[in-house]
Amino acid sequence: MAKWHRLRKRIHVLCFLIFLALPFCNVVRFDIPRQRFYFFGYELWINEFGIIFFALMFLMFVVVVASVVFGRVYCGYLCPQMIFSEASAALQLRLRRWLKPRERLARAAFYAVLAVASVFLSFIFIAYFVEPTDLARRLATLDIHTAAGICGASVTLLTFLDFAFVRLRFCTTVCPYGYLQGMLSDGNTLLVHYRDKNVECIECKKCVRDCPMGIDIRTSPFQIECVHCGECIDSCETILARLKKPGLIHYSWGVEGRSRFRFDAKRIILALVVLFYASGLAVALSMRHAVLVRIAADRATLYRTGPDGRIYNHFRYSIANRSQKPAAVVFSMQELPGATLALAPNPVAVKAGETVQGEFDISAPAGRRAEFVTHFNILASTIPDPVTEAFPLTFISPTEAQ
Ligand code: SF4
Ligand code: SF4
Repeated sequence: MAKWHRLRKRIHVLCFLIFLALPFCNVVRFDIPRQRFYFFGYELWINEFGIIFFALMFLMFVVVVASVVFGRVYCGYLCPQMIFSEASAALQLRLRRWLKPRERLARAAFYAVLAVASVFLSFIFIAYFVEPTDLARRLATLDIHTAAGICGASVTLLTFLDFAFVRLRFCTTVCPYGYLQGMLSDGNTLLVHYRDKNVECIECKKCVRDCPMGIDIRTSPFQIECVHCGECIDSCETILARLKKPGLIHYSWGVEGRSRFRFDAKRIILALVVLFYASGLAVALSMRHAVLVRIAADRATLYRTGPDGRIYNHFRYSIANRSQKPAAVVFSMQELPGATLALAPNPVAVKAGETVQGEFDISAPAGRRAEFVTHFNILASTIPDPVTEAFPLTFISPTEAQ
């Protein structure tokens, strides 16, 4: 018995460990000070709109599909608010039992432990937006003067108040996901369903007493407070097992009480949308160059004639190294015979996470150009990654050179 409770607690521990690990392993972090989005080890710059768009749309549709198919199972099994609210209530109860009958001491001990836990949880939460070592440095210096420090102190205070007083009231009042779920569920969504065709309920009300949300599932399977945790299923099975009868509350797909998941047109379309964004994300990531090179001709002056009689065109470049290791770019030319590229040093070195900008001239002998505009390529080869990009550009010569 209590199988759903045991499963839920195991998943809670796993989720807690994942919650701790994600920002430290750069799996997910929206690094606000650095303007970077870390996604499964990729360090994406904020201007990499395509990849960030596909990543966010993919995550959003995963949440939508999970809600349409599994209802509020996320709330009961995976949500940090639920996990820490239940942990806080369990801790309070345990301290009361240990320190009985010293009620005041138990309360003081609970608030002291919760204060330390709030600092820790806030640290992990903010690490989803600020690099953890930077955050640890701010915490060590008790920074409450800068915007980030004030934000950290506020989050700690809110965390403390939340898990001391609000807890699961948050789920039934302000949580937007609960309201969204109500709109997304349909006749095939997973429900916690009470069925009693033979009127076997003994009115013990254990399912009501054990419900963390304080509701009676027997009145309706569509109550917005129900987080589909399954505690009432365990309660009813435990009680009726003593009478050698099966429980009256079950997980079921839809109100007809189906025990099997059924694909319908809506679910197939949603699966295709998730597949579309997953494929878009995979393609965008596979096409991504860690070192982004841009080259453009400076046409403030079309060309100039140098003291050596050669024709000069001016160009600008920028190199953004979006990787976590140093890189260099070698520039060379293609299809412009007799021309020289005046750039020193070449290769251009770029440190990890930096952007370098610069200018260079390309010169060609006067009178050799057959046309006013000559099309050619500049090749940018990245070291150490063996990536070579060709930039189609134009070289402009004076008309009298024809
Ligand atoms: S636990 Fe089962 S038997 Fe008891 S009141 Fe709830 S539904 Fe009825
Ligand atoms: S009614 Fe049952 S499934 Fe819903 S929140 Fe209460 S205990 Fe959990």
